[in-house]
Amino acid sequence: MNRQLACDAGEPEAIVLHNKKKKYMTKFTDLNLAQPILRAIEEEGYDSPTPIQERAIPPMLDGRDIMGIAQTGTGKTAAFSLPILHLLAKTGGDSPPKRSTRTLILAPTRELAGQIYTCIKTYSKHMGLRSAVVYGGVSIRGQISTVSRGVDVLVATPGRLLDLINQKCMHLNGVEFFVLDEADRMLDMGFSPDVKRIAAMVPKQHQTAMFSATMAKTVQGLAESLLNDPVRVEVAPVATTIEKVDQRILFVQKSDKRALLGGLMKDKNIERALIFTRTKHGADRVARHLVQKGVTTGVIHGNKSQNARERTIKEFGSGRVRVMVATDIAARGIDIDGVTHVINFDLPNEPDSYVHRIGRTGRAGAVGTAISFCDVEEKAYLIDIEKNIRQSVPVFDDHPFHCEIAANDPGTTKKKGRGGGGNGNGGRPSGNGGGGNKGGANRPRKPQQWKRKNSRKAA
Ligand code: AMP
Repeated sequence: MNRQLACDAGEPEAIVLHNKKKKYMTKFTDLNLAQPILRAIEEEGYDSPTPIQERAIPPMLDGRDIMGIAQTGTGKTAAFSLPILHLLAKTGGDSPPKRSTRTLILAPTRELAGQIYTCIKTYSKHMGLRSAVVYGGVSIRGQISTVSRGVDVLVATPGRLLDLINQKCMHLNGVEFFVLDEADRMLDMGFSPDVKRIAAMVPKQHQTAMFSATMAKTVQGLAESLLNDPVRVEVAPVATTIEKVDQRILFVQKSDKRALLGGLMKDKNIERALIFTRTKHGADRVARHLVQKGVTTGVIHGNKSQNARERTIKEFGSGRVRVMVATDIAARGIDIDGVTHVINFDLPNEPDSYVHRIGRTGRAGAVGTAISFCDVEEKAYLIDIEKNIRQSVPVFDDHPFHCEIAANDPGTTKKKGRGGGGNGNGGRPSGNGGGGNKGGANRPRKPQQWKRKNSRKAA
């Protein structure tokens, strides 16, 4: 097993990482992409197409609509971008239509839109195409002047795109390629009115690609209405994609979580860790604690400005900070190279979030590690997560804060203040249910070793 635990000045080292790249079968050169694209992806270090690229690129090059079922992390951005760039180069030549775009890529969040745009810039860097990204939360002025000249590729969130259209700064008459990323989210209740309005403005003659991790029955009808005789390509469903992530559960008392984290962070194998908390305040608290421990740490959540969020993501991606603490805002879509570990400081109460969170590591064939802390009140969440991923997550109990009560809890101990009115001790010994931190019976394996070593050090 790729784990080790050693006591170093009273604090454990933890999980050892592998970071191997998987090899894929075909070569990019077999896909007949234009030379400037091949050059750019070679410079990026891409050797062979990933399975979704292998399956989606040829039919897209043939002009077919695509319904792709693939998660972020499988290489889906390149799967739709590369053939579109190839076709733009082949059929282009002229400058793009004024106040319009030849390619419209819609994404649900600013982060994802920004990320797709970065990929487009990278893949098209030897092509002389014009690309842009527009999303809300930042000034619209610069975006107006960019789109007024016309672009070959526009990545947009639906709200800001409609603002630009409503202000008559742009139109969609020039769209030849239409892409919906994270289509299941784009077509659900919140976004679907905007997406329908946008789709109605795109000229009849165009090619559409939709990519989604899942395709819920509720959005399937709308998805099909936007596609013309699509080729369906599907790779590893959620539950199997996460198999390459080495997962561990560490049962712990809520009050011991920070000490446990401090100990884990002594492990030098944790090169780049994304730590998830359930609340914004929780994220700030964990980040403060790590900074006190000398760990370079950034934090992103909904109370941070867009600029601050982008800066932190950049610093984390470049390795300037070793840890990024985040709420679920960072669980979907965000692609940061080389995240060696995802740590769930709190387990998410939605099982799907667990899958999205741990998908931030183990990307593009690398193997990553996901460590989840679980206190007694989170046991019910763990049970839901394991049902959802159809596997049980191995327990790592060889650490000084292991909490047997959480390990044995049947999942009936409820969160204080959550549905059930805080009375859900579910038959557990009293004092255990409400996040109580009284020690004694709740701490069957008080970390003697840890305390002793620490106090010796202090003395
Ligand atoms: P995506 O699923 O589009 O978010 O891509 C996930 C990650 O895989 C990104 O960091 C890409 O740069 C990387 N990637 C995409 N295609 C390849 C490939 N063929 N070989 C190696 N890495 C890739």
